[in-house]
Amino acid sequence: KAKEMGRDHYCFFSADMQAQSSRLLRIENGLRTAIAQGEMSLHFQPQWRVHDRRMVGVEALLRWTHPELGVVGPAEFIPVAESSGQIIDIGLWVLDTALACLRRWRDAGHTDLTVAVNLSLAQFRHPDLVEVVQKALQRAGVPAEVLELELTESIAMHEPEKAIACVRALADLGVQLSLDDFGTGYSSFSYLQRLRVHRLKIDQSFVRNLDTARGMSIVRAIVEMSRSLGLATIAEGVETPHQLEALAGLSCDMVQGYHLSRPLPVPALEALLEQRALASDIAA
Ligand code: C2E
Ligand code: MG
Ligand code: MG
Ligand code: MG
Repeated sequence: KAKEMGRDHYCFFSADMQAQSSRLLRIENGLRTAIAQGEMSLHFQPQWRVHDRRMVGVEALLRWTHPELGVVGPAEFIPVAESSGQIIDIGLWVLDTALACLRRWRDAGHTDLTVAVNLSLAQFRHPDLVEVVQKALQRAGVPAEVLELELTESIAMHEPEKAIACVRALADLGVQLSLDDFGTGYSSFSYLQRLRVHRLKIDQSFVRNLDTARGMSIVRAIVEMSRSLGLATIAEGVETPHQLEALAGLSCDMVQGYHLSRPLPVPALEALLEQRALASDIAA
């Protein structure tokens, strides 16, 4: 009987795995033509400065609508693109598209707005990254200071010494660097001091725990450590008024999350930019 059950279980598992691998194959194949066929787009999630409640930045987040699979999230397709090497072309498209949007917003008067672009491990390790970024800035005609590049703590820790050199080279261009998903990796105080990013993005798992005393002390510790290292902080995944209040009380510099705004398609973001001066509803 146990044997029968085992066999059933095996069959079930195998069918499941087959479905999964065919989905992965379709994703990998679909990615080859996704950009050319106009299936990719960027959404932009606003970022607010806490002390004067001004929206001062946006993070570019990649969106893909597959012709048959429908919307496929970046958490699913970025790893596929990463292992197939397609992330290099896709990443360049993201950079160019985000900077072209920023150029348009700057031309409309929003010259203090920054745009943050996520880097993948393969992009970060690519020997031409600095040149690629420099050329993209030139093509778009925007100054380096308004571009922010996000690398995750785990990307940085993949090759810690190389990351230090690479961050330095990018910072020398004038771009801002932030450490995404901070707190989920293993960087030490001394490593952070040497890495020289400008900003830590407090991972949403910590923000979610702000309702507890223990969660509060962890975020307080991160903010205080950042300050002593001369780094700014931004909390991601802010979903409730209470979390926002707690972060303001802890003097976190910036906030981003569904409570303030979801990632928006370009027209909605542009509408928000237009009323930016009036957007004092952050604590609503
Ligand atoms: P991330 O860079 O840490 O981005 C934050 C993710 O949290 C985004 O998911 C965003 O939509 C989501 N988010 C924002 N506010 C909230 C909130 O209040 N609550 C919750 N639960 N989630 C919130 P998304 O867009 O699905 O992206 C997932 C990840 O995929 C990103 O994490 C990033 O690592 C990666 N990614 C997205 N776009 C790109 C890209 O252009 N290039 C690369 N290399 N990676 C990207
Ligand atoms: Mg990010
Ligand atoms: Mg993050
Ligand atoms: Mg993340």
